Amino acid sequence: MAVSNLATELRALGRDIIDLGLGEPDFRTPAHIINGASDAAHAGQTIYTPTAGSLALRQAVADKLRAVNGVDYATNEIIISNGAKQSIFVALMASLEPGDEVLLCAPYFGSYKDIALVLGATPTTVDADPAHGFRLTPDRLDAAITPATRWLILNHPANPSGATYTREQLRQLGEVLARHPHVLVLSDEIYEHIVFDEKPFVSFASACPELRDRMLIVNGVSKAYAMTGWRIGYAAGPSELVKAMTTVQSQASSGPSSVSQAGAVVALTGPQDQVAEFAAAFERRRNIVVNAVAAIPELHLDAPGGAFYAYIGCADLIGSIAADGTALGDDIAVTSFLLDEAGVAAVPGAAYGCSPFFRLSTASSDELLTEAMRRIAAAIETLTGS
Ligand code: PMP
Repeated sequence: MAVSNLATELRALGRDIIDLGLGEPDFRTPAHIINGASDAAHAGQTIYTPTAGSLALRQAVADKLRAVNGVDYATNEIIISNGAKQSIFVALMASLEPGDEVLLCAPYFGSYKDIALVLGATPTTVDADPAHGFRLTPDRLDAAITPATRWLILNHPANPSGATYTREQLRQLGEVLARHPHVLVLSDEIYEHIVFDEKPFVSFASACPELRDRMLIVNGVSKAYAMTGWRIGYAAGPSELVKAMTTVQSQASSGPSSVSQAGAVVALTGPQDQVAEFAAAFERRRNIVVNAVAAIPELHLDAPGGAFYAYIGCADLIGSIAADGTALGDDIAVTSFLLDEAGVAAVPGAAYGCSPFFRLSTASSDELLTEAMRRIAAAIETLTGS
């Protein structure tokens, strides 16, 4: 968001900036969802819902989890929040004590770290293996768990790396976790529907049913249905944890917007064609960026398996000198250079705990992505001394 704000400021100064900083679909929310929410508002669904979310939406989530993911959760094991982010926040707030460790797989979604910090917990990291598609490997997980580890947070498909896991790979992580019964597992599955190369998405809950008592599945409608501004996410897990999360949420915000929840019911229960259309567009755009990066010798990108980001390795740019004499000492300098010289806003890998990389969002039109990659290639050609 900070990168996006800077891009907006530069635009206001008349600069031509392509903003590939922010992670949200550039599509409109499908019309039938907007109409459903509007109908609900006209029919009087404009009052408080239960704190954990309307029964209709919790039921729709339960049905979706059963039909799409093959896992069974009752409505009292499901909470609806103001976005997946709030589900994560209330889960951690309901369960963490100062000094507890929250284990993150780097590169990670930055909010995990900041939420842990603001709650007085200690974020710790385990590096994903770039040579294995940025996946967390069982041995690395095993070595990173300490007696103080309270949560492991795993996000797949991952922001920013696009890492995805097969059922077998999740099972192997589950075997490690079975040896550490004090660790709770938060599986952030918000990019579930944005998977490529015809590979199926497997929920951690479906791969490792034996972890059910200590696993929280987080998901939402923001990414799959182009509904980021509606602020509806959800979590499914053990009823006691969900109850504690509801207690926290009741003082933070009460239940989420009734109108947005009505829209989310329509999203989950209505026609799903657009979900696949969005995913196909994201795959096409991924290919545009992967092909463009392949033609730039200084950059490195293995095709991400899901989500809508490209996490681009820029080790070969570190140490090069820009035309104005600035040395590119780290990936923050690289993204400043790309903003200045190419007019492209990207996020440095430092924000995700894994350098030297930068993240481009591929949730932009084919034309803008093509132009952004052309400008990045041209800017890199102006560098010397790498
Ligand atoms: N988890 C991940 C991995 C994300 O990338 C995001 C959004 N950037 C969220 C959660 C938050 O989603 P929501 O809009 O539902 O709060």
